[in-house]
Amino acid sequence: MQDFRYLDDTAILRLTAEKCVGCGNCALVCPHRIFRVREQKAEILDPNGCMECGACAINCPVGAIYVNPDDGCGCAAYIINSWIARMKTGCGC
Ligand code: SF4
Ligand code: SF4
Repeated sequence: MQDFRYLDDTAILRLTAEKCVGCGNCALVCPHRIFRVREQKAEILDPNGCMECGACAINCPVGAIYVNPDDGCGCAAYIINSWIARMKTGCGC
């Protein structure tokens, strides 16, 4: 996804390909289409598009994905929380 991107090289996203069983969950749940699964292995296509939401890691059945915004700058998490707050209030300002 080209919209809603953040700073390059700031997201903490790690994939341990050896653990991957190719279920496809990460590609399915990622809102930014960061993953692709080919030949039963996930690949990270666009690491700088990651917003550290954690959906891929939560839904990986074998713990092959690591996302930890607490180890990063936290800015992506701040942006996501800001969007959620705006959606709740309906305020665009
Ligand atoms: S943390 Fe969220 S945005 Fe980043 S790769 Fe996982 S599902 Fe996609
Ligand atoms: S969710 Fe985990 S096991 Fe499934 S394809 Fe993605 S990395 Fe592989």
